[in-house]
Amino acid sequence: MKKIEVEHLTFSYDGEQDVLKDVSFQIEEGSYTTIVGHNGSGKSTIAKLLIGLMEAKSGTITVDGIKLTEKSVYDIRDKIGIVFQNPDNQFIGATVADDIAFGLENHQVPQEQMQRIIERFAQQVNMSKYLNSEPTKLSGGQKQRVAIASVLAIAPQILIFDESTSMLDPQGKAEINALIRQIHQASGMTIVSITHDIEEMANSDHVIVMSEGQVVMNGTPEMILKREQELVELQLDVPFTLKFIREMEQNGISLKDEIKMEKVVE
Ligand code: ADP
Repeated sequence: MKKIEVEHLTFSYDGEQDVLKDVSFQIEEGSYTTIVGHNGSGKSTIAKLLIGLMEAKSGTITVDGIKLTEKSVYDIRDKIGIVFQNPDNQFIGATVADDIAFGLENHQVPQEQMQRIIERFAQQVNMSKYLNSEPTKLSGGQKQRVAIASVLAIAPQILIFDESTSMLDPQGKAEINALIRQIHQASGMTIVSITHDIEEMANSDHVIVMSEGQVVMNGTPEMILKREQELVELQLDVPFTLKFIREMEQNGISLKDEIKMEKVVE
């Protein structure tokens, strides 16, 4: 089943220049999709439109079979949890526990259930020891764990990560990537991750490559690898491409392999 369907989406911040130009793609329920591309190619704009923060100029977004409209936006937002780039911008609570509680209070979860839910999700992100700590005093990776626990607590069906590891050191990145994979495997949630992380991209089910407001490639990591020359032409720079190839080879996939081509949605 399709969890997200984006059709002919066009968007402009200033009413003049389109930063998204006729963007269409579909995301399967339970899949792990990465969206990659240059800075400024329109990736975050897609995330903002998916959660209804802004209105498209034209085109449609359908989430879980519901078309995004002014009326349905709150129902759709309930289905989506989003973790942003800068963990410092997402804290509201004085302690980690307060922070996880914040979303739950907004969802009118009864007080007696609250503590149990907080403990459960703190444990899932391996932050049980820090429930009484001040979020601002944590490391970058720990802050993102808390942000992830806060969105998981409201039981979304879709998790969006908008460059959630880009401000972290290599260890923090690796920890958060492992956590995302673990959540995906354990919950079967639909995951959409905007990323510059080649390892994450190589390990995802589905890659959407954006360039200048358009989807230029869309398929499995193996398919994208087959079109290596186009990646180079797109100037997703040579180191990027080489790193991607190396990553795929470490995953046992090489250009020489007979790769089963899957249907591209374009
Ligand atoms: P990405 O996430 O791929 O880096 P964005 O979606 O953030 O790209 O940006 C796409 C384009 O829209 C860029 O040209 C960027 O400068 C522009 N843009 C992003 N946010 C705003 C904004 N709030 N106001 C005006 N222009 C914006």
